[in-house]
Amino acid sequence: MEDVPSTEDVARMRHFAEHYAGKTGTAFHPDPEVTEAVLRGLARHRAELGRPLCPCRFYPDKREEARRRTWLCACDDMKRFKYCHCLLFVRPDGLPITEHLPAEHEGRAAWGLVADPTSGSGRESGRSMGSGPGDRTGE
Ligand code: SF4
Repeated sequence: MEDVPSTEDVARMRHFAEHYAGKTGTAFHPDPEVTEAVLRGLARHRAELGRPLCPCRFYPDKREEARRRTWLCACDDMKRFKYCHCLLFVRPDGLPITEHLPAEHEGRAAWGLVADPTSGSGRESGRSMGSGPGDRTGE
């Protein structure tokens, strides 16, 4: 595994994230170190696996997980519920949006009900929309 992501990979992930935040009406965390850490984690996975696997989860087998789409950024929870586990795409106050999550979702237990200030934008109904930035197999 490459411990230090390349400048190009980090820049690519930043470009994606800026675009996706704009598209979904979300913001980056007010602490830039949070954003930087997530972008670097995504870039590391992209370099290692060829795909931007979410860096905030534990995977028994990362390569196997990367073959699925569930946890490729933007992950299914973000696309469906506008909820980002990693706090990359949040409200301007830094809280993750939980309004659209099912009541039993772990995000609701962790954060309570956090309203979406831009409720009319950013949720995708299908899994095929809004493909991620760094799928090298699709370039
Ligand atoms: Fe991870 Fe999903 Fe957030 Fe991307 S959108 S950083 S995959 S939790």
